[in-house]
Amino acid sequence: MIGDSSQPLSAYWMPFTANRQFKTAPRLLAKAEGMFYKDVNGRDILDATSGLWCVNAGHCRKEIAEAISRQAAELDYAPSFQISHPGAFRFAQELVQYTPEGLNRVFFANSGSEAVDSALKIALAYHRARGEGQRTRFIGEERAYHGVGFGGISVGGIGANRRQFGAWVPADHLPATLNYEHNAFSRGEPGWGAHMAQNLENILALHHPSTIAAVIVEPVNGSAGVIVHPKGYLKKLREICDRHGILLIFDEVITGFGRLGTPFAGHFFGVKPDLMTCAKAITNAAVPMGAVFATSAIYETITQGPEHQIELSHGYTFSGHPLACAAGRAALAIYTGDGLFSRAKEIGEYFEDAAHSLRDLSIVRDIRNLGLMAGIELHASPDGPGRRGYETLVGAFERGVLIRVTGDTIALSPPLIVEKNHIDQMFDVVGQVLRGLK
Ligand code: PLP
Repeated sequence: MIGDSSQPLSAYWMPFTANRQFKTAPRLLAKAEGMFYKDVNGRDILDATSGLWCVNAGHCRKEIAEAISRQAAELDYAPSFQISHPGAFRFAQELVQYTPEGLNRVFFANSGSEAVDSALKIALAYHRARGEGQRTRFIGEERAYHGVGFGGISVGGIGANRRQFGAWVPADHLPATLNYEHNAFSRGEPGWGAHMAQNLENILALHHPSTIAAVIVEPVNGSAGVIVHPKGYLKKLREICDRHGILLIFDEVITGFGRLGTPFAGHFFGVKPDLMTCAKAITNAAVPMGAVFATSAIYETITQGPEHQIELSHGYTFSGHPLACAAGRAALAIYTGDGLFSRAKEIGEYFEDAAHSLRDLSIVRDIRNLGLMAGIELHASPDGPGRRGYETLVGAFERGVLIRVTGDTIALSPPLIVEKNHIDQMFDVVGQVLRGLK
């Protein structure tokens, strides 16, 4: 047994977890290195999900651990309001070398949820500064996940995440672009459906474009089951936003930092958003951090008025935390030094072939993929939706592979250091489990 796993489990209220079920048969990880976890029983578990879409450079990278340790001994914390530390400026300056052109201002947060809510507030502040304070509504998309803040759940399109809490920020939603009839088993971007971007015009007509602050989308919907937008769809959204003075926000919390074979999804799709959120892999998940990237036009519009006055009344105690900045700088050095931003492009075809090798299983309803992201959607069990997904998670874990499931969709998104033998192992195991499901 590694670590102390004998303690009672009652006190910890786990997030997004069936707590009672988990505590009857806990899955506890104790160590990690490279592509693998070790559970508390000392079993190797192949990480086919980069933790939670976040450990892009693989686990326990020495350079990151050392950078955190050095920073903790030198400057553990510096206030973030009206005071700062050089590491935050250095990291911001380094990050904007890799963002889509023009996104050269960075606002730090501590998670994807905070990054999303920060981006929404920046959009509102921007319009207000331009004398268009009536732009208070956002347009999100069905089946998009934007975290768990009140802004994020309002623009997000996952019913279960809103049901218990309501939706408090004015928002409307584009229909999800998932289409089984035309696009099932598409490899990469589906060819059918770019015209669905026209739905945005209909929604704008309903509310009047002058009331809309921003459109927010995930470039690829990750958490709701790897939904890849049709080819050309995001470009069309960009055109419509431009036509109506509406900001476009890309939520790159999953797609950022090399997931698609480019630094950010904006590069991959050739679309430049006005605001971009990221988190997760920004520090290779070693220290929590999120960020919003903005154009200088947005920054300059908001940073006006008397110079002694705070321009954006928003921020966090831990914005630009020294340990997060140290981890982030070390992670960025690995991503660029090891060529990981383009790795998904190099190995993506092998990954795609492996994913689609499962298409003939009768239980499989659809397979979708882009870069190093794949979703394998199962037909729901007659016993109810989600059962097969959960059984696949448990079955794969028992066989030494960590996968992610949402409902009945299995999501695979390995660290970018993944090799062909790991890809073989993860899809072999998933295939074995699926063959055994009722
Ligand atoms: N936005 C997207 C696209 C995400 O995938 C996530 C998390 O998975 C979030 C926001 C929320 O991030 P966090 O869990 O760090 O708050």
